[in-house]
Parts: sequence; C-alpha cells; structure tokens
Amino acid sequence: MSTQGILTTKTSSWARLGQRTRHPYRRWFLAVTALFMLGAATSIYGAVAITNSGNQKVQHAFTTSSAEITDVLKLYVHHQLDLITSVESFLFGNQRPTSAQFTAWTKAVDILGHNKDLDELGVVYYVTAAQLPAFVREQDSTTSTPFVVTPAGTRPYYCFAAMGIVRPESDTPPQGYDLCSGSEGPLILSARSDGDGDVVPYTAGGVKQLAFETPIYRGGVTPTSLAGRQRNFLALVALTVEPKIILASTLENYPHMAVNLRFNGTTKPVFTSGVAPKGAARIAVSLGDGWTVDVLGRSSGGGLFSNRNAVYILVGGLVLSLVVAMLIFMLGTDRARLRRLVDDRTEQLNFQATHDMLTGLPNRTLILDRTEQLLTRNRRAGTYGAALFIDLDDFKNVNDSLGHEAGDRLLVLVAARMKAALREVDTIGRVGGDEFVVLLDGGESMGAPEVVAQRLLDAMRDPFELDGSLLPLIVNTSIGIAVGDRPTGSVLLRDADVALYQAKAKGKNKFIFFDQKMEDAIGHRLALEFDLRSALSDHQFRLFYQPLYALADLTIVGVEALLRWDHPKLGLLGPDEFIPALERTGQIRDVGAWVLHEACAQLALWHERGDPLYLSVNVSGRQFDDHALIEQIRGALAVSGLEGHALCIEVTETALMLDMASVVRDLGTIKSLGVSIAIDDFGTGYSSLSSLRELPVDCIKIDQSFVSSITTSEESMAVVRTFIQLGRDLGLRTVAEGVETFDQMDLLRACDVDFVQGFLFSRPLEPKELEAHLLEPRRPARPNPAPPRPQQLD
Ligand code: C2E
Ligand code: CA
Ligand code: CA
Repeated sequence: MSTQGILTTKTSSWARLGQRTRHPYRRWFLAVTALFMLGAATSIYGAVAITNSGNQKVQHAFTTSSAEITDVLKLYVHHQLDLITSVESFLFGNQRPTSAQFTAWTKAVDILGHNKDLDELGVVYYVTAAQLPAFVREQDSTTSTPFVVTPAGTRPYYCFAAMGIVRPESDTPPQGYDLCSGSEGPLILSARSDGDGDVVPYTAGGVKQLAFETPIYRGGVTPTSLAGRQRNFLALVALTVEPKIILASTLENYPHMAVNLRFNGTTKPVFTSGVAPKGAARIAVSLGDGWTVDVLGRSSGGGLFSNRNAVYILVGGLVLSLVVAMLIFMLGTDRARLRRLVDDRTEQLNFQATHDMLTGLPNRTLILDRTEQLLTRNRRAGTYGAALFIDLDDFKNVNDSLGHEAGDRLLVLVAARMKAALREVDTIGRVGGDEFVVLLDGGESMGAPEVVAQRLLDAMRDPFELDGSLLPLIVNTSIGIAVGDRPTGSVLLRDADVALYQAKAKGKNKFIFFDQKMEDAIGHRLALEFDLRSALSDHQFRLFYQPLYALADLTIVGVEALLRWDHPKLGLLGPDEFIPALERTGQIRDVGAWVLHEACAQLALWHERGDPLYLSVNVSGRQFDDHALIEQIRGALAVSGLEGHALCIEVTETALMLDMASVVRDLGTIKSLGVSIAIDDFGTGYSSLSSLRELPVDCIKIDQSFVSSITTSEESMAVVRTFIQLGRDLGLRTVAEGVETFDQMDLLRACDVDFVQGFLFSRPLEPKELEAHLLEPRRPARPNPAPPRPQQLD
C-alpha cells in the first residue's frame, strides 16, 4: 500500500479536501476580532466617560469646597468685627469704664473661651498732651500702681492700652507705655484718619498674627470730615488673632486642600495652612480690606489611570471582551470544526464508496454510474461512446507465486501505467480483481477505441519491476470493446466483457470489438450450461471409442474413451462444447467418475469377448482437486473386475502444472494400482522436457498440431523426432495423435513412433461400431499415386 500510484491518487483527493481548508477559521477569527475590538472600544469609551464625570465631580467639589472655605473665612472676619462692635458697645454703655470693669466684662461673656484664636483684645486711648494729667489721675485712681508714661518725655499725643485682655502666654505691654511712640503709632494715626477699621498683618513675639483695628470717636459716630475725625478720635479697639488656628480648623473637613491668605495684592501669602496636592488648582476670593484668600486643591481627578473606577471598567471590559471573544471563537470554531470533520468524513466515505481503495480509481459502482451518464450524453448529442473492458491474463499466477501483496503492488503499477496512457477526458476504473474499464466519450473528442486499446496494450508491453520478484514481470492484457448506444450502462459493459472473453480466447495481448454474434454465442453457452446440469442424471452422456494402433502392423492395441453429450435438442455434442463448462462448475468430477466406470465396464465386456485391448481415459485437472480420483479409479477397476494395467490415464501437461507436487503424488498412487499414465497433448504445455524424468509417466501422446505439420515443416519434424527420442530414452511409449494422411504415417514410421491414432485409421466409434471394426479391421487403403485429402469427420 506504499506505492507511488496510491500516494498520487490519495494526495490528489486529499489536496482537494485541503483546498477548502486552507484558512479554516479565518472568518471566525475576523468576526471575533471585530467583536473584541468593539468590546474594547466600548470599555475605553466607558472608562473615559467615567474619568470625565469623575473629573467634573472633583472640579465641582473643588469649587464648592473653595466657596465653603471662603465663606467660613468671611464669616470669621465678620465675627472679629462683631467682637469689636461688642467692645464698642461696652465702652459706650459704661462711661469711662475702668480696666477692672473691662476685664470683668470679658470674663462675663467669656471672650477668650469663645474665641480660641484670640490673642489680645484691648482698647487704646488716644490722649493729647493737654489731656494727659487728667488721664494719669484717672488711672492712678483705679489702680494701686502709679501710672508712669514710658518712654518719658513730652509729646503732642499719647496712645495707652488702658484696658484689655491677653492670653496668659502672650506678652503684655507695660502699663503706661505709649504705643504711638513705637511701631504701632502710624497704624493708630492712620486708623484715626480713615474712620474705618483695618485688618493688618501684625507680628508679636515672633508669631504672625492678624490685627483688627477699629477707631471710635466721641459720641459713637464717625465724623464725615477728616478734621472732625482727628478732633473727635477717642480710642482704637484692637484685637489680634492667630489665623492659623481658624484656618486649620476650617481645613479639617477638606483634606488635600490648602489656603493662603494674601494681603494688599502681594503674591507672597501672609498666612498659609494645609498642604496643596501636586498640580493643585487655585481659586482666589477677595475678603475685603485688601485681603485675598487662595484656596488650593485638586480640581480634576487626573487622567484615566488615576480614576480607579475607570481603570476597573477599562480592564474589566477588555478582559470580558477577550473572554467572550475567545469563548465565541472556541464555540464557533468547535462547531465549524465539527461540521468540517463531518464534511470531511462524509467526503471520505463517499470517496471510499465510489473508489477502489487500492488504486484510487473509480470502482464498479462509480463506473456503472459514469457509463449511464456516457450513454445519456451521447444519446442526446447523437454520438457514440465506447467502453473498453481490460483484463490481465494469468494475473492469478502473480498472486499465487509472489503473494497478494505483490499482486496488489502490481495492480497499482498497472493502474498508473494505464492511466498515463489515457487522456484526461477518458475515464478509467477498476471493476474487479484484475479487471479495468475505460470509458471513451463520443463525439469529435473521442479517440478511436481501437487506437486507445492499442495504446493501452503498448503501454503494458514493457515489463514491470516489482520489489521482491527477481525477474521483471510481463503482464499480458486482453481488451474487449463495445461501442454505441445500449438500453443501460450495464449492458454496454457486459458487451465489452463478452468481447473481452473472445479476445482472451484468441490469445494474449489482443483487443476485439463486440458484435451481436458474440452475444448469441454467449446466450447459447449459457443455455448449454443450464442444460448441462441435468445431463448426467438424465443419462445424456455417451462414450465413443477411438482405436489406437501399433504402427508396426497397424493392429488395434487399445481404445481411447471420448465423451459425447447427446443433447435432447441439439443432438450429439463434442467435448470441446461442454467440457470447459463442466470444469468451470466442478461437475467434471462426477462426470469423470461416470466416464471411468462406464469405460471400464465396457472394456470388461470386450475383454470377456476375448479382445485384450487397453483403455485410455482422459482425466481433467479438476479431478485432482479433492484426491477423489484415486478412489474413483479403484472403484471402477473393482466394479468392472479389470486389471490395473488394462487402464491408462491421460493427463494434460497443464493439469500436471496446476499443483505439480500434489498431482505427482496422486499419480504415484494411481501408478501403484498398475494403471499407466500418459501425458496428453504433449508439447503444447510449458513443462520442460527435463522435468519429464521426474514424472511418473509411461506414455507421451504427441499432440496433433505437431503431427499435422510434420509433412510441411522441417521444424515440426525435428521436434517430433526429439520427443520420440526422449520417450525412448526414458523407456516411455510414444503415441502420435491425429494422424490423417499416409505421408504423416510414413514420416512417423521413420521416426519409430510406437502407436498411432487418427482419422486415417478410424474416427471415434460407438461401442457397436467398434465391435464391428474389431471383427473386421478396415485397413486404410493407400491411394495411388495421389494421397487422399484429409477426411473431415466429427
Ligand atoms: P484428446 O484427448 O486429445 O482427444 C483426441 C481428440 O482428437 C478427440 O476429439 C478426437 O476425436 C480427435 N481426433 C482423433 N483423431 C483425429 C484426427 O485424425 N484428426 C482430427 N482433427 N481430430 C482427431 P474429441 O473427441 O472431440 O475430444 C476433444 C478433447 O476432449 C479430448 O482431446 C480430450 O482432451 C477431451 N475429452 C474427451 N473425452 C473426455 C473425457 O471423458 N474426459 C475428459 N476430461 N476430457 C475428455
Ligand atoms: Ca486424450
Ligand atoms: Ca490429445
């Protein structure tokens, strides 16, 4: 099964399958990729949307927070101003209150307790030089410690922090200290002139603070003119706070945010609190009085990857798309793969059902189908197609001698060679063991069938080289051709087969066209075969006897029993018309047994009458098949009471060759019964002369074909002479068959043949005729001078 032919055939069918499967999952791959991309795009879109919405939220939160923070700070400023207002109210509610009263009041309303960031709260009196002595007296009257103006000296006005509260940890200016003589002086004077409060940065003891200052004027009303304000200026209510505290507490609820307080448009912040995140945005809001608050914080959620939800959506979406895509791909291709598998298998099964697996050629079924198509097509086109039936001669021998594997290999080579000899349009198929059919389509494209047949025969002429066989193999071929229309494809093929049968009968390497006569012959043959089945039981067989003569004196020495069939309708039929059929069907074994019994019985009668003849009986090769022949001979001898040496068995060379060893063994047994053995039709088979020595034979019967040609062919004469010489050397009797003329007889006599048989002396006779012949032997009358024409008997 590993030969080239198979491979080529198989490859082509696989290649056909393969074409469909080059990119089996391409479509699925594309679809699933598209699906994945869609999923990915959706994921990205979702992630971006979430990022944007997150950013919007952050932005919104930032502006809201900023607003809230600035609101708190504004409120805070208001609160400080409110505090100052309440101090003013206290001052005007109590005419010139003492420091102790002030302190008591602040304690009562728990000013320090409510204002955690408040550092100092106090009232600074503005005292002109004229007012100083009264002021000092007033102060001295309220406290035990004398009021001493520091720094000492006479100045146009003084500023004394006459009352106030201070956080215990903060510094307090000494009593009697003139603030206007120090750094605060200009501030106080500027407040006096402005008429409204200020909020200014202020540093005390190294701590940054915020100072709120509000001037108050006599009568509690701020004069509209500058001169009025300067004249009526009474005191300055001031407080200092540490904004850090309020800023920190404000930012408590806003982590990741920072606040800067800037003053008078400077960029450098006076107060800062909180830590601004990297890349923070800034919102600046004015608080009034030259103060600006900067709120710093994140106004955007950052990029897609800083948004956790967006990342979840993105990664999750991508993974999901991938998984779904892979799942669909797997399911899809699984189904596709399954379908492909089924398709492939179906195609394979179809191929197997319609092709011969050995050669890859169409098988009988497909060929029959193609033949039908061929007929239909040609009928329509008004043309003729043809079928060639091809058979290898003696192919069975290859199988028998080299084995079936070698036989298979040879068939593959033969198929390949024939295929190569045909054109692409011609169809070739294998329809049986060694039978091939070629279909030629009709019309102009059809090669003449005889040309194609000859081409095929020529192609087969070259020997085949087969591994394992020492010699190149010659394969002989016979071809039957049927041309034209038929009712069915099988009729066309049958006709080609009939022609093939004739071609085989005609010899090797021949092609023959079918004609109607052949079919008639076949019909006749089939009818005969049918009738033959009952011929034996209906006693339709008869035996004729042809005498054998000693050539020396032409006395009758024996008879050969020759079978006839007395057909009820066709009359007497010769063995050539029915023996092949008997052999084919195996009936020859029963018929052969009958011949032996009948002939022996007949001879026993003649022996009783005193005619010491010997009897020659023809035996078919098939009779050796089951070794029954030995028993049949024993039985026939026993029943007839004949001696074994009265009987001779005639076996053809071809029969001997069938199963040489077994046949030779059986012949040995037969010989041991005293029965002699003759080789019939000697010279027509292929047995080498040397093998004759090993065969247990007593007699050779030189075939008629040599005898009939000795008068015309020197070669035949030489062959016959060799045969006779060989027989003599081996101590065998020699018989010349089919002697028809005196010339032949003369030549045979010159060669020293022992016995003769032929129409010249007697044709096969019925027992009665033979008895008459025995009583009065009819000597052939030699015509003079011209020899007689050969008799045409039988
Ligand atoms: P065979 O054994 O060679 O028999 C001789 C054949 O030659 C006979 O043909 C006979 O009639 C024919 N013959 C004899 N003399 C002449 C002659 O001078 N000229 C010509 N042209 N023919 C002559 P038949 O009887 O037709 O038998 C044909 C063959 O059938 C026999 O050839 C033999 O092989 C076979 N056969 C006959 N009877 C039997 C039988 O009982 N059993 C078997 N197995 N085969 C038989
Ligand atoms: Ca014979
Ligand atoms: Ca013969």
